[in-house]
Amino acid sequence: MYSHDLIIVGAGLAGMRAAVEAVKAGVNVAVISKVHPLRSHSCAAQGGINAAINPKDSWESHAYDTVKGSDFIGDEDAIELMCKEAGNAVLEMDRMGTPFSRLEDGLIAQRPFGAASFDRTCYAADRTGQVLLHTLWEQLVKAGVQVYEECQILKISEVDGQVAGVVAYDIKKGEVFGIQAKVTLLCTGGYGRVFLTSTNATASTGDGMALAYRAGATLADMEFVQFHPTGLRYSGILVTEGARGEGGYLINDEGDRFMTKYAPNKLELASRDVVARAEQTEILEGRGRDGAIFLDLRHLGAKKINERLPQVRQLARDLEGVDPVYTPIPVRPTAHYSMGGIRTDKYGATILPGLWAAGESACVSVHGANRLGGNSLLDTIVFGYIAGRELGDKLGGMDMPTLPESEVQGVKDQISELMDRPDKGVRPASIRERLGEAMNSYVSVFRHPDNIQKASDLIPTLRQDLTTMHLDDKSKVFNVDLLRALEMQNLVDLAETIIAGAMNRTESRGAHSRVDFPDRDDENWRKHTITKWDNDAQTTAFSYEAVRTVGKDAYKPAVRSY
Ligand SMILES: Cc1cc2nc3c(=O)[nH]c(=O)nc-3n(C[C@H](O)[C@H](O)[C@H](O)COP(=O)(O)OP(=O)(O)OC[C@H]3O[C@@H](n4cnc5c(N)ncnc54)[C@H](O)[C@@H]3O)c2cc1C
Repeated sequence: MYSHDLIIVGAGLAGMRAAVEAVKAGVNVAVISKVHPLRSHSCAAQGGINAAINPKDSWESHAYDTVKGSDFIGDEDAIELMCKEAGNAVLEMDRMGTPFSRLEDGLIAQRPFGAASFDRTCYAADRTGQVLLHTLWEQLVKAGVQVYEECQILKISEVDGQVAGVVAYDIKKGEVFGIQAKVTLLCTGGYGRVFLTSTNATASTGDGMALAYRAGATLADMEFVQFHPTGLRYSGILVTEGARGEGGYLINDEGDRFMTKYAPNKLELASRDVVARAEQTEILEGRGRDGAIFLDLRHLGAKKINERLPQVRQLARDLEGVDPVYTPIPVRPTAHYSMGGIRTDKYGATILPGLWAAGESACVSVHGANRLGGNSLLDTIVFGYIAGRELGDKLGGMDMPTLPESEVQGVKDQISELMDRPDKGVRPASIRERLGEAMNSYVSVFRHPDNIQKASDLIPTLRQDLTTMHLDDKSKVFNVDLLRALEMQNLVDLAETIIAGAMNRTESRGAHSRVDFPDRDDENWRKHTITKWDNDAQTTAFSYEAVRTVGKDAYKPAVRSY
């Protein structure tokens, strides 16, 4: 059994930023991650991070864009906090050594991004997440923070209403161990892999959210899933919004620049939900090709594409067989970002004592029903920093809880039972495929109640299959079959909350578009969906929470046009 004041689960940008801050207060911090920290999903972020650092811009304008982008359901106090902190957050990363792209005069370069009223997205070519992650990793190593690499947490241990730490599985050794901590901070990323096609890494299985939910924390707004307008047609791999920020057009199979019809002012740089719906409409009405429309970069020329979008060119060549210098790239809306997550206050605390969350796994609600591009990296850096700072201050005065050995034994038994099952049930991959396909087909860009019901009807079958699924691989070291099986329970739990949330919300708001309720209904639905696992009834319990407003007229719900 290991013991730390603070265990941070997840070594993406949120987790590492929190660790770098907390360690400054002299507390004993450790980080645990199921993949090597530098392979955390944050590494894939391409386009950039928002901050009003140009004197002609303002945090107020950024906050307004974010409130509007959220379709007026983001919590305004948290949004203001994020936008006020953004400048410092980015400049602090710059001081730590992040190699941002620069203007001629040496200032950090900024590009236009969707639904933003100013060019405020700071970037490092199309590798922004990677350079931020590497910068924080250097700081972590320098500070000597202990990192449990390639160890997957399987349980959040809650004892008498207090979280006492986590139980984890060392993927390299096949061993189960416990980490006792005064506070467990979850920075485990999103749940994109609930969908079969996603821009997300295979590790984005929402583990932290599902385990927190099982331990008694609440989840918020799970029905709001962002579909990115430019996932590659076959693989779903992302083409950054930066490509449109640099001037890329969207065209249909007839060569029409169709966004002139759907968002005459902002065109391709309208909010993501608006662009995704426009694309899907074009495809459904027969103006796509093989389920895709096209991102046209040809007019940018080879020089600009090579300089600003080198990774995009490479991905298009490797995965779609087209060179964007000469040929438009086939793209389609693809599951991308989890607006929902573990409900926290402005600092990262959940309703469970000893459990905090930050980054994509959390719902502090700065994104509401639709996240703006460039605001997620910001969310990780700002709220990671805030959680680290707050915990650094608080941990000294807290007592260390006891994580009972029985908690560790319970997880060992769970794994043994799974490994020892006869080769009769279905394989985990089959459950994943059926779930992912149903989510793709029935709970995506446009949601029809009959389709949502079809997805809902599948859940009991999948739950039954979870109890009998068997593993082909019985080995101890790097047993991927086992890991995928353990993640399946999380995916099914989260899918259920997304499906039920989508069925309950009888309006269209942001990324949640109900064909039978096409309008936003502020009177009845300007509120957060709160989901809690009811252990006695073995089901999901719903409640609703008012949006936190700050009383500014500018933030009052209005028609959202771009
Ligand atoms: C392709 C792509 C491009 C993007 N580009 C941008 C962009 O340009 N700008 C922007 O603002 N946003 C962008 N986003 C969104 C943004 O990258 C993510 O929201 C953000 O990086 C999430 O960071 P995180 O720290 O919350 O989690 P992640 O980076 O996902 O890290 C999660 C961590 O948790 C660990 N973990 C998970 N489960 C467990 C477990 N059971 N046990 C132990 N460890 C666990 C993982 O190993 C990992 O270290 C992009 C997203 C995608 C998919």
